Order: sequence, then structure tokens, then C-alpha cells
Amino acid sequence: MSTQTALKAETETVEIKHFINGEFVAGSGGETFDNICPLNGEKLGVIHKATKEDVDAAVSAARAALDGDWGRMSTAERVKLLYAVADEIDRRFDDFLAAEIADTGKPKSLAAHIDIPRGAANFKVFADVVKNVPTESFFLETPDGAGAMNYAVRKPKGVIGVISPWNLPLLLMTWKVGPALACGNTVVVKPSEETPMTTTLLGEVMNAVGIPKGVYNVIHGHGPDAAGAFLTEHPGVDAITFTGETRTGEAIMKAAARGVRDVSFELGGKNPAIVFADCDFDAAIEGTMRSVFANCGQVCLGTERVYVERPIFEKFVATLAEKASNLKLGHSDDPETNLGPLISEEHRAKVKSYYDKAAAEGATVVTGGGIPEMGDLNGGWWVEPTIWTGLPDDSAIVTEEIFGPCCHIRPFDSEDEVLHLANDTPYGLAAAVWTGDVSRAHRVSRHLEAGIIWVNSWFLRDLRTAFGGSKMSGIGREGGVHSLEFYTELSNVCVKL
Ligand code: NAD
Repeated sequence: MSTQTALKAETETVEIKHFINGEFVAGSGGETFDNICPLNGEKLGVIHKATKEDVDAAVSAARAALDGDWGRMSTAERVKLLYAVADEIDRRFDDFLAAEIADTGKPKSLAAHIDIPRGAANFKVFADVVKNVPTESFFLETPDGAGAMNYAVRKPKGVIGVISPWNLPLLLMTWKVGPALACGNTVVVKPSEETPMTTTLLGEVMNAVGIPKGVYNVIHGHGPDAAGAFLTEHPGVDAITFTGETRTGEAIMKAAARGVRDVSFELGGKNPAIVFADCDFDAAIEGTMRSVFANCGQVCLGTERVYVERPIFEKFVATLAEKASNLKLGHSDDPETNLGPLISEEHRAKVKSYYDKAAAEGATVVTGGGIPEMGDLNGGWWVEPTIWTGLPDDSAIVTEEIFGPCCHIRPFDSEDEVLHLANDTPYGLAAAVWTGDVSRAHRVSRHLEAGIIWVNSWFLRDLRTAFGGSKMSGIGREGGVHSLEFYTELSNVCVKL
């Protein structure tokens, strides 16, 4: 590692600093907070807390970079650099993997197959999009017969504030930083206070491949009245892209109103899975197991409400429960591990409060419902994979996002009934439909109020497609060319001939 090592994993205390204008720097206020390992509750190290001055320095560096080499760079040169970023992440795969696992406690198998490779791929995907997207052009007829030519020019929006969550730290952050840089913007990133490591490590990658100073900046800290708010309230930030809770989105939207800055929001959900009796049963079970329990249920696209057509309801509940009870909770390094811990003590308390509420409301606890005995790992933030049945449709369990390894399963009798149930939520992020009837698959999908609908699959992602939520689940779409809409300003040039 370089002398400017972002993470000193080999030493006792990992010290996470800000990355401003190409340098790893301590916070100007001298304050830090602890970074805790979710596997066992032990201290991993300390994280520097950004002050308003630190955020100001990061935004100024990002602004200066726009006016420097980065701003003058051709798209072809930028594309080449972004490919180099992806290749360097791949080259340092093990460092990124270790950092992501230390912060999240997720199974190594999961991070190695999803988080890190997808984190790298995000740079190549958006480099390709920027390279290949044509701009529009219209010939306008004029009374003098000569006409006029209109053509659109895409310009970077400027300094983008990126606020990211903890559930897929590298993947969700690069999903925004990749297109932002591909379009020629500069960024100031505020990763989740729970998972600062891979975002910090990316600073080393940026330096190694020659991304100019100030293009990629990272500041650390919490959200309200802290680094997150300092960034979103900063008048030097031209637009804000955010992934996280809907409630946080509301706070950020207020901050963005000052200066009428643009926002792109990927927010919470309460996603349904609809399982028709004519489905491929085994595929529906396998897909629902993943959509409920992957990443310990901490996936925005995950299923928390399962609706099963009555003829197969009992069998579906019994099969899913048996599989859920066989999931192996354990250490990230154990190849047998299916489920890691939740991210934090606070989040475990929130999830556990829903487990208790379900029991108090009279749910049938089909499996789980408690805190498991984890031996050496008892200090970590573990919960049992849990399935309930029997709750009313207006129960908190059925209406509020829990973000844990759990779901409520309810029978239904008709297509109309299940569409009503699935759509009866203020959220509209994702849905899964399991059926062998192709006409029904299309019909139901058209009526589902969700931004992302999977039929006979879940989390099958094509990064060229529009990604985002309707209703309280988001504002705008990112992915493929849709990201360009947010990360660029379109100027029309009209030339009278
Ligand atoms: P969160 O909203 O608590 O935090 C996300 C980020 O926002 C963190 O970096 C946090 O520090 C920051 N933040 C908090 N308050 C802020 C404020 N007032 N101003 C500025 N920044 C602030 O979310 P989380 O707990 O990290 O993530 C889980 C949530 O994210 C879930 O609701 C989940 O559904 C959602 N999520 C959505 C998607 C999607 O694509 N729609 C993807 C992943 C996660």
C-alpha cells in the first residue's frame, strides 16, 4: 500500500480519514467516532468526523477540479480513466473484499459475487453509456427557406453531492459516482457512518490511476446536523443523489430546496412478492428465499410481504419455513454461511422491536422471531430469519419497512384481490411475480405500482435499464441513459442557417 494508506488494516486501529483533493486528511475538528464490527460488536477503529470546514474544503476542491484538467478532458480520456478505475478495483479485489466484510459482516461469498465485482463494473458500464449515447438533433423549417439546425449538448451538472447507505456500500456508491464522473462532474461523497471503508479505499484507486485531484472527495460523519447535512446544505453543491430511507430523503429535499438544486432519490420500500398457484414452485421458493433473506434482509429491493394463491399457501409456507430455519448464520469467512448479522446495534433493536410487535399482535410465528445463540459471536447484531402469517393487512409488520430477514405471508384468492393488496402501500419500489401464465405475468405487471418488477426472477439486473421507485420510494430514475438525465444538463443549440 502507498504511504497515503487509507486503511491500515494490519495495525490495531484502523483510522478512517477524509479524502479531500487527493489527500487523506484528518478532520479539522479533531473528533472521531468508533467503527464497530457487526459480527461481534468489537471496535474496528475510528472514523474522523467532518466539520463544516472539512465539507467546505471538499466542495471547493471539487469545484476547482471542474475548472482544471478534469473539466478540459475529452470524453474519450475520461472513459479510459474510468476503465482504469474498474481494473484497479479488480486488481485490489481482496483489499476491497476485506474492507467491505469488516464493515458489514456480510458473508464473503456474497460480497465476492455481488458487492465488489458490481462496484467495479459500475465504472465500465457508465463509461460505455457515455461513449455510445447519441444526442438529439432537429432541423427546423423557417419562412426564408434556409432553416435552422437544433442540436443538444450534454454538459456536466457540476459538483454532485453523493449520500450513500450501508447495505451495499461500494455497489450503491459507485452506482452514482460512476455515471457522475463519466458525465464529467466531480463528486463529494458522504458514505454511511456504518460503512466508511470501501469508499475511502477508492481514494487510493483514484490516485493510482491518475484521476485528477479534487474529482473524487470523501467526507465522513453522521447525517443530521453533521457531515450529511453540511454537504446537502452546501450552496456549492449543484445536485444531490441519495440512497437511503424515505424519511432522510424528506430532510435532504428540504436542504436541496435552497438554491433549487436537483435531486435523485432511491428510497425505502415494502416490496410484495405474488406467487400464483400455476408457478414453478421450486423456482418461486428459491427466488423468495433470496428476496427475503439475502444480505440478512437488508436489500431495498427485498420482499417483506408475500402473497400466495390459496391452493398452494400451506405448502409454500411450510417449505419456505423449513428452508429459512436451515439457513446458516455465521462468520463471513465460513463458506457455509448464508446469513450475516444486521448492520448495527441500533438497527438490530429496530428489527427486534418488529419481531416483538408481531408476537404482541398475535402473529403466527412460523419460524424464528428471536435472537440466536451465536457463541463467540454473541456480541454481534444477530437476529433469526423469521416468517409470520396471520396478521391483518394494516399491521405495522405488513405496512412498514423493517429491513431485516423476515416476511409476512398471506393467502389470496383472485388477481384483483392480490393487486389491491400489493398496491396498498405508500411505497412503490419493487415487486416479484411468480406465475406460469405469460399473459397474466404481463397483465399483473402493468398494474403493479412499482418501479422495478421481476417476473419469475428477483434481482436480475441489467444495468442499462431504468432503476428507481414510484410513490414514496424515490424520485427519478438512474441506470443506463437514465443516469445521464440526472448527471448532465442538456443545452439546446439552435443555429440559423
Ligand atoms: P439512512 O437514510 O439512514 O442513511 C443513508 C445516508 O444518509 C447515510 O449516509 C446517512 O448518514 C445519511 N443521512 C442521514 N440523515 C441525513 C440528513 N439529514 N442529511 C443528509 N444525510 C443524511 O439509510 P440507511 O439506514 O443507511 O439505509 C437503509 C435504507 O436505504 C432503507 O430504507 C432502504 O430501503 C434504503 N435503500 C434504498 C435503495 C434504493 O435503491 N431505493 C437502495 C438501498 C437502500
